[in-house]
Amino acid sequence: MSNILQMGAITMASTRVLVLGSNFAGLTAALETQYAFRGTGGGLDLTVLSKSDRFVFTPSQIWVPFGKREADDITVPLGPVMSRLGIHFVPSPATRIDRATRMVTAANGQVYPYDYLVIATGFRNDFSGVPGMDPKDGFANTITTLPEAERTHQAWLKFIRDPGDRGIIVGAAPKAGCMGAAYEEVLNMAYQLKRIRLNKRVPLTYISGEPFLGHFGINGMAGAKPAVSMFFKMTGIKPVINAAIESVSGDYLTLADGSVRPFDLAVLIPPFVGVDVVREVEGLTDAGGYVPVDENYHSALDPRIYAVGIAAQVTTPWVTAVALGVPKTGFPSEVQARIAARTIAAEVLGTPAPVGKAFKDIPAICLMDAGGPPFGGAMILGSTMFGPRKFSAIIPGPQVHLMKVLFEKYFLFKVRHGLRWQ
Ligand SMILES: Cc1cc2nc3c(=O)[nH]c(=O)nc-3n(C[C@H](O)[C@H](O)[C@H](O)COP(=O)(O)OP(=O)(O)OC[C@H]3O[C@@H](n4cnc5c(N)ncnc54)[C@H](O)[C@@H]3O)c2cc1C
Repeated sequence: MSNILQMGAITMASTRVLVLGSNFAGLTAALETQYAFRGTGGGLDLTVLSKSDRFVFTPSQIWVPFGKREADDITVPLGPVMSRLGIHFVPSPATRIDRATRMVTAANGQVYPYDYLVIATGFRNDFSGVPGMDPKDGFANTITTLPEAERTHQAWLKFIRDPGDRGIIVGAAPKAGCMGAAYEEVLNMAYQLKRIRLNKRVPLTYISGEPFLGHFGINGMAGAKPAVSMFFKMTGIKPVINAAIESVSGDYLTLADGSVRPFDLAVLIPPFVGVDVVREVEGLTDAGGYVPVDENYHSALDPRIYAVGIAAQVTTPWVTAVALGVPKTGFPSEVQARIAARTIAAEVLGTPAPVGKAFKDIPAICLMDAGGPPFGGAMILGSTMFGPRKFSAIIPGPQVHLMKVLFEKYFLFKVRHGLRWQ
């Protein structure tokens, strides 16, 4: 099952754990696996393969369009951290997973065997459902990846030089992968327009498939609808809900009801799907490329393969007229990775497995940023992701923007120093 190390008279079996991905879920899985094996006498051979050589603090991509953050502000090179921690880090994407031989091939041509595989490969954008939405078509922009957020910065600079009269649209396409990012972007847009005194001149519209404002892709929570409606009213954002963006062309987008919405600048959140290397493993994923898992994050197909973070499948108990995606946020990604790491260690060491927790039962904790005072943003809290919840609240306040900035600094510090989630 594993590498056999001869150390004098002692023969130690080293368990090979291979993690794919190195962001919220992958990095947590690696740190927690190392921690779970520490001092147990169980040998561990831990490797992380990743498409990126950096950790990216994705939540701050909402600020990149306005020049408030640049790539170096929100990324951390992982090579030095991993080598200090003694984790074998390979910044090369996995290109093939062979379940039969338990081997993963990487783009560097090397093959990496595993006893346990943790898939934390996140998502890729799926622009295929809305013709013209891909930024490569040259009409709309997005912020879901760092290069795309940087490109939106260029579009924003161009826009403020010559704002035109059609206005700005921030929208979440049907099945959008991260509804919260659309809310944050439109609120930040309103904040920036006011700051540069364009708010009276530029119409700002939010378009989403949500059945009501503040649904967030998690069926809303107590007080969210009135709070978000008030935010929008006070900042002059015009909401268009229950709306499916059907296509984008030139300087307008078309909704499923046939109406046409012109824009000078459009920032849209597309649906997410699982990455191709995972989707290509026969029987491992659903149609969206996500891995069905149990409450300890074993894949349904193969108990030696775990999936955590965005890569893990989540099904919703509700149905909406326009299909919505589930916001798989940072906090649940870390909780899932920790459970998976401890489960692997328990299986190897023969100790009791930790209590599992499905995505729907993990608490909802999010800071929704509105750019700065006077609104600041809102804290979104729920005892569980999906209802019925014992407790939920949306707490607006000017302090929320500062809290988000401080959280960003704290998190990047933690990554830079290889500290575990506490
Ligand atoms: C604009 C935006 C704003 C957000 N704001 C918030 C927020 O305020 N709060 C919050 O909690 N969440 C927020 N989120 C969600 C948060 O970013 C995700 O929950 C988080 O990124 C999930 O982490 P992950 O590790 O599962 O996936 P990802 O962060 O997508 O990481 C995937 C990892 O896999 C690697 N990878 C990809 N393909 C391969 C491959 N073939 N082989 C090996 N490695 C591969 C990537 O390089 C990366 O390291 C936001 C998301 C976006 C897009």
